[in-house]
Amino acid sequence: QEPPPAAAVPQSGDPALVLLKRIGTVDPASLDDYRSTGGYTALRRAFALGPAGVIREVLEAGLVGRGGAAFPTGRKWQATAQQADGPHYLVCNADESEPGTFKDRVLMEGDPYALVEAMTIAGYAVGAHQGYVYLRGEYPRAFERLAHALASARTRGLLGPDVLGQGYAFDIEIRRGAGAYICGEETAIFNSIEGQRGEPRSKPPFPVEKGLFGKPTAVNNVETLVNVLPILEHGAAAYAATGTETSTGTKLFCVSGQVDRPGVYELPFGANLRELLDLAGPPGRLRAVLLGGAAGGFVRPDELDVPLTFEGTRAAGTTLGSGVVLVLDDSVELPRVLLRIAEFFRDESCGQCVPCRVGTVRQEEALHRIVDRTGAGAAEDIALMREVGQAMRDASICGLGQTAWNAVESAIDRLGVYK
Ligand code: NAD
Ligand code: SF4
Repeated sequence: QEPPPAAAVPQSGDPALVLLKRIGTVDPASLDDYRSTGGYTALRRAFALGPAGVIREVLEAGLVGRGGAAFPTGRKWQATAQQADGPHYLVCNADESEPGTFKDRVLMEGDPYALVEAMTIAGYAVGAHQGYVYLRGEYPRAFERLAHALASARTRGLLGPDVLGQGYAFDIEIRRGAGAYICGEETAIFNSIEGQRGEPRSKPPFPVEKGLFGKPTAVNNVETLVNVLPILEHGAAAYAATGTETSTGTKLFCVSGQVDRPGVYELPFGANLRELLDLAGPPGRLRAVLLGGAAGGFVRPDELDVPLTFEGTRAAGTTLGSGVVLVLDDSVELPRVLLRIAEFFRDESCGQCVPCRVGTVRQEEALHRIVDRTGAGAAEDIALMREVGQAMRDASICGLGQTAWNAVESAIDRLGVYK
């Protein structure tokens, strides 16, 4: 039995929440609840601003992608909108599969109309008339709630041939994944929607130019899209007043592992890791915190002042990624955790390119040897992993292979795991 969304949001009901403000406090099936709590004011403002005005607001707000890569959303929309070729498409990447990431699930289950409204605004801005939600197959409740929200939005003229009587046609289709992590890579999503094998394409060309069906496509993560609502409701300047100069707004953090209150937390960018852990109830004897998920890096207990911003985590040698905060106490056997991560990458590699297909296997074998011999012979294995890891980073087609060695490297260099 899945937990209800409210249980996944320990701050539920806190008036400071922006993205999570409705989660656990409104009926996710009720369009009237959504509208009575401010829903659809952002779309009305979007129509008043026009597509170029919406993009200007998003640029001025400084919104960057929340899927993990932090690319400026306004630039992506502008580049898509400017393409002469058409039709244009909008794809919402809801294939949330990074181990330890569950924020998009909470948003879709607890506030599905927010995503529908945000996608309508994004579609309008980039000149798309068709949007797709590429939804993780293992999220049946999110599917049901989104499907219900789409149907009632259509009935009420909020989707369809004439959205809000403004002469703009837009509709959204849900496509469900089938359990492959790689299908969350944006170009693999295109292949999957087109009915081909879910394998990444080489970039460039970027999706803004040649995306779904070879046409200009804006691809955005669920959390990224939902941020457009406060930007349009309150204006770019008010939005950018929260956070830091280069990481504006608030961020959702997926806190898991050895804490008292795991779940999704929302904090302004710039809060530090210690503040987040204090909210979640940290373990007595902290060993490390993995930020950014399987492709991320470790933070030591003496580094908890790291600011939770894209620039702050980068400076600390790790990444914010999609907001994974996996807390490990000193009862955890780190070599086994690393082996599990390596197994995951080996399992999920699509096998299309040699560095990743072979490198993830060699990495897992080396970590197995280390675990089996409880550390003996580790020097040769570490040297091998460094060589293989660099080859994967330099020569893999997509982010999976490029980052498959990140967490292991971080554990070796920052935690001294095999010493
Ligand atoms: P990327 O840096 O290649 O691209 C980020 C986005 O910017 C993409 O949409 C890309 O098309 C666009 N882009 C980049 N350069 C561009 C340009 N010059 N012109 C136009 N558009 C441009 O990153 P990526 O491979 O798409 O994503 C990697 C991230 O995904 C990692 O940070 C990882 O943390 C994250 N990730 C998240 C999940 C999850 O479940 N949320 C799962 C796996 C990976
Ligand atoms: Fe496939 Fe790995 Fe190559 Fe990505 S890096 S295309 S997952 S084999």
